Amino acid sequence: MDMMMTESQLTLRDAVRKFAEAELLPRYMHWDRSGEWLPKSFTDKLVEMGLLRLRMPEKLGGQGFSFVDCGIVCEEIGRCDPQIRYLISSAVHISEMSSEMHPDLQEEWLPRIANGEIMALAFTEPGGGTDAANIRTKASRDGDFFVINGEKTSVSFTGVASVIFVSARTGGPGPWGLSFFMVPADTPGIRTSNYERMGQRLTRGGSIFFDDVRVPARNMIGKENKGFVWAMTIIGYNRNFVALACIGAAQKSIDETAAYMKTREVLGQAVSKWQGAAHALAAEQTKLQAARLLCYNALALVDRGLRHDPESSMAKWYGVKVANEAIETCMRLHGHYGWSKDFPFEQRLRDCLGMESADGPREVHLGIISRDIFGKEFAPF
Ligand SMILES: Cc1cc2nc3c(=O)[nH]c(=O)nc-3n(C[C@H](O)[C@H](O)[C@H](O)COP(=O)(O)OP(=O)(O)OC[C@H]3O[C@@H](n4cnc5c(N)ncnc54)[C@H](O)[C@@H]3O)c2cc1C
Repeated sequence: MDMMMTESQLTLRDAVRKFAEAELLPRYMHWDRSGEWLPKSFTDKLVEMGLLRLRMPEKLGGQGFSFVDCGIVCEEIGRCDPQIRYLISSAVHISEMSSEMHPDLQEEWLPRIANGEIMALAFTEPGGGTDAANIRTKASRDGDFFVINGEKTSVSFTGVASVIFVSARTGGPGPWGLSFFMVPADTPGIRTSNYERMGQRLTRGGSIFFDDVRVPARNMIGKENKGFVWAMTIIGYNRNFVALACIGAAQKSIDETAAYMKTREVLGQAVSKWQGAAHALAAEQTKLQAARLLCYNALALVDRGLRHDPESSMAKWYGVKVANEAIETCMRLHGHYGWSKDFPFEQRLRDCLGMESADGPREVHLGIISRDIFGKEFAPF
């Protein structure tokens, strides 16, 4: 990617890398082991670095960063803690939504998210997440309000988010009966329960129950019954951020493993001198570089306002897959040390394996790519 980066992108990459090495890496295992939530003193550091304002309006300190720039930030953050990427994404999402938000909502929520509060995205339901168009949560109109009833699950930041961006049925079946709402997490009628995840422990998965939750009609984002395509479009770019955070974690693993292999001796010579071991790392580095280019290519399309669904699906499917493969290889090349909890590989693997499902499982992305190849009539879906 270096060859394609502008001078300002290289400066951005180096600044974020330095910040992540100093502030994120030393705490990465701590969040996982302790279960502690991010203290304000920590989120303040992200705020000071400008990482939650990348695409915010200018009056809130936004600097007009491109999607490719945001991808660079996600990759660098992912090197040291792929979970923190969620906060970056959350701030980009609300920035992208702002043009569809009532001015009162903009005024309240944009500064709050830019200052370190969290927005959860609640789409998945107990009946399934892949079929996001056929959800059961309902929002019924009552004068100037909507009343929301239903259950969402597997929602990251359950219990710690300040506001929830939730999908609900306001019309008939299918995608054209869906609308999207911003619901403050302390609205009466909202209950949450968390459950243990294998990884991504910092981001706290859980269920959110909506029992007669009344929200003003102005909290609807986008148009009634027309929210689906718009919401999926703005969230489509996120697939690249997800993949890049995992690619960052894998790249860090490769860098650490290369250093280790030069100093660890086996049968009288450095592990790196054994061709089988060196080639294993070389192959992972090659796949990772290919995945990285897929992501930045898709994000460049987003920046140009062009269609990018097959390209983003290629990036998500391939990027997450090869990142996990690379981390596993690095763990293996560290021998028994790699398997221990003193090294970060097991946590990186747990954290990045979850990204196989988040933002759509691989079958969905291969389906989107198939549709591009065969056309809708002959594709699996
Ligand atoms: C770490 C993590 C964070 C998450 N964060 C959020 C969040 O913040 N908000 C939120 O709403 N959700 C979140 N999710 C949920 C995620 O969006 C869902 O897991 C995802 O949409 C898939 O839904 P599901 O798990 O219900 O699987 P299902 O829809 O039940 O699918 C099960 C399996 O069936 C297969 N499958 C599905 N569709 C097809 C198909 N068309 N063809 C062939 N096979 C198929 C796949 O192997 C899939 O894994 C998160 C998940 C994880 C793991």
